[in-house]
This record gives sequence, structure tokens and C-alpha cells, in this order.
Amino acid sequence: MSEPTGTQSLFNFNALFDNPVFAGGFGLASLGAVLAFARRGALSTAGMIRRRMLVNVEISRQDPSYPWILAWLSQPREQTSFLAKRLTRINKLSVATATSSTPNGPTKASFFLQPGYGRHIVKFKHAYISVNREKQATARTNTGEPHETVELTTLYAHRHIFEDVFTEARALALQANEGKTVVYSVRNFDWVPLGEPRRKRPLGSVILDQGIKEDIVNDAKDFIARRQWYVDRGIPYRRGYLLYGPPGSGKSSFIQALAGELDFSVAMVNLSEIGVTDDKLAFLLTKLPERTILLLEDADSAFVNRRKREGDGYNGGTVTFSGLLNALDGLSAGEERIAFLTTNHVELLDPALIRPGRVDMMVRIGEATKFQAAQMWDRFYGDVDVDGTDRRRFLDRLDDLGLFREAKEGELAPRTSTAAIQGLFLFNKNDMEGAINMAEHLIPPKLEA
Ligand code: ADP
Repeated sequence: MSEPTGTQSLFNFNALFDNPVFAGGFGLASLGAVLAFARRGALSTAGMIRRRMLVNVEISRQDPSYPWILAWLSQPREQTSFLAKRLTRINKLSVATATSSTPNGPTKASFFLQPGYGRHIVKFKHAYISVNREKQATARTNTGEPHETVELTTLYAHRHIFEDVFTEARALALQANEGKTVVYSVRNFDWVPLGEPRRKRPLGSVILDQGIKEDIVNDAKDFIARRQWYVDRGIPYRRGYLLYGPPGSGKSSFIQALAGELDFSVAMVNLSEIGVTDDKLAFLLTKLPERTILLLEDADSAFVNRRKREGDGYNGGTVTFSGLLNALDGLSAGEERIAFLTTNHVELLDPALIRPGRVDMMVRIGEATKFQAAQMWDRFYGDVDVDGTDRRRFLDRLDDLGLFREAKEGELAPRTSTAAIQGLFLFNKNDMEGAINMAEHLIPPKLEA
């Protein structure tokens, strides 16, 4: 047997190619290979083009700008060109519902349409932006919810458009909250706005005893103006206020009005709530929204819990005394912060709380005084009781009922709250006589004869 020559082998190949079955199969296979090669080439070219010519910005759900961007995307845009009209319709929308409830009224719900999950194209100024909103089922946030992102992609040449997008989205968010106070509460491990932003409460609508409001407002404004002073001295830029007194005296209302005056939001945690643990509080403080007053309600519960723990080994899921101190001045406290603590039971608090940076100012917001009752009267009836005759009659009536009298030794003086006076006036909205006649209802039930 001789070795096959080149001619022979060529011949064999030719023979093979002459075989229609083989030729067809080979043709298909090579076509497949060419296609696969071309596809791979196209993909890597597309990848290269994407890397070279496109820029992405990824915004995670955790980022404060996430809701702004979604709101910005849902803005209606008037498109002029045919192409823009065809390309930039967002067909897939999702709905976000915000509910808010008034103290005695029904729950209000508002619906906002947002771009749904998937890809969309928007045109902004001269640039087309591809938007990809994605839920990543595998990655979870620390709240246990799936991680979510919005990715914006545009041509490299148009990359500067992102700056405008974020500026516009932020301005839009600020504009939506203008004249409003955002109140955040805790949900899982997140601060979430409690209903819609509320109309700013004017400071004038909260009536505290003479000079109290002005003292706190001036102190807070002075603190805000002195940022550099703290920085220069290396002192943590923190201020704490403790408001104590009976319920219904206007503590929460005042904090909300102050936030409005300072243009701050309020982030509210009730320390008596089960499930708000030391770790959770510490974690929440690390992500306090900017320009926000931290409001720790029912501060006494941290001390009650301490006593319970020391006494009978109680280990409920609430904040402890050391958890509260850490929240106020530990690592988790953050460098900058204004905190308000409120309590109805100041006697339960520990003096360790009163220390610069923890609690710098401690103010009693007490039962209604004559000064407050007079001011509240004027706010309700001032336009009809122009010369104040009826106000005097009302105040005399409260005097007769002993509502402003100093308590004698060992006696509980009958006192009333500003909330109760407001309730009386609301009940007798256009009826001064009715308010005067019904004044004895202001005596707290347990003190009624
Ligand atoms: P607190 O936080 O001291 O328990 P709130 O601020 O929650 O009291 O007051 C309860 C209700 O009573 C609110 O509707 C508030 O408008 C009204 N109110 C209570 N005190 C005052 C006050 N000093 N000035 C104006 N409104 C008040």
C-alpha cells in the first residue's frame, strides 16, 4: 500500500463533496459556524460599542435619588419629532400608593404612576436615554426585600445629560415638597414617608407658654448657623432637646412646626414600640435622611425597660437605656444631628441623659396656662371678639373652675390641656357663648366632684 498522495486526498475530498448528503451537511455546518462566528463577532463588537460609546448610571433602591428618578421618569414629556413619539412611550407602568390618615377621619390614598419593570426609552433634551428598571430576586436588601435598581444608559457623547437629569429630578422632588414637611416613620429597617408630605404647620398655630417657643426656635436656629464653630473645635455637631409634660400639650405639634420653620423633615421613632431594638435604632441612625430632625418619642420606655431587665430578666424587643445613649452619642449617632426626645414621664428618665450633645435643653411643656388659653381664644374667636370682652369672661370662668390655681400641698390641682381647650373651641366653632358655657368639661374627669 502506498501512502496517499495529495492528489489522492484532494480527490477523496472532491468525492466527498460530490456526495450531496455530505455537501449539504457540511454547507449547513459551515454556515452555522460562520453565523456563530459572526454572532460572536457582532456581540463582542456590540459589547465594545457599548463599552466605548455608551455610559450607564445605576441607581439602587437604597439611594435617596431612587424615588426622585422614578418620579422624574413618570413626568409627561411633550415630544415633537415622529421618532421620539414612537420610541419614547412608556407603555408599562406600575402604581405606587401612598396612604395617610387623619386622626379622626378616613384614610386617604393617592396613586402615583411610575415606569414599570423592564426597558423603556425616554428622550431628554437632545439625548435618548434607555431606562432599565429591574428587581433582582437573588440579591436582598437588609429589609429582606428584593434589591431593585434603575439603570440609565445613553451615548457616551451625551454623558453630561445625567447631571441635568439628577438636577432636574432633585428640583422636582424639592418642588413637590415645597411648603410641606415630610414625616418619616420606621418600616422594617427603613425610613419611609408617613403618608404624603404634610402642609407646613405654622409656628403661630402652636401655642406654648410665654417665651418657651421662642427660646427653642432661637436655640435651634443658632445651632444651625454655627456649624463651622463646631467643626473648628472638633465638637460633634449635635443638639438634643427634651420636651416633657402631659399628653396633649402640643409637644409633637411644636416639633412638626419647628421642622417646617427650619425647612427640615422629621424622622420619628416611638421607643415604646415592640420591635424597635438597639441594633435597629443604631442602623436607622446611620441612614437618617438629610436635614431631618430625629424625634424619639416616649423616651421613658428605655428606662422602664432597663428596670424591667434588671428586675426580672425581661428581654423584650425594645430599646434599652444603653441603646438610647448610643443612639444619642455613640458611633451610630452620626456627625450631624438635631434630636428631640419626648416623654410624658420625666421622673422615669436618668440624669445621665442631660449632657451636652445628648440633651442640651430640657423644657417642660405643661398644662394650659392663662396665657395660652387667652392666645388660643384669640386664634379662634379674635375676629369676632374684637375688644376681648368675651375672652375675659372665658378666662374668668376657667379661673372660677380653679383651672389656673397653684396646687396646695398634697393636692392634685385641676388642670386642663391645650388639646382639651382646642377640642372645646372646635366643638363650638362659631359659638363663643357655647364655649364659655361648656367650660366645665375642661376639668379632667378624675378630678370632677
Ligand atoms: P403631645 O405631643 O404633647 O401629646 P400633640 O401635639 O400631639 O400633643 O397635640 C394633640 C392635639 O392637640 C393636636 O391636634 C394639636 O393641634 C392640639 N394641641 C395640643 N397642644 C397644643 C398647643 N399648645 N397649641 C396648639 N395646638 C395644640
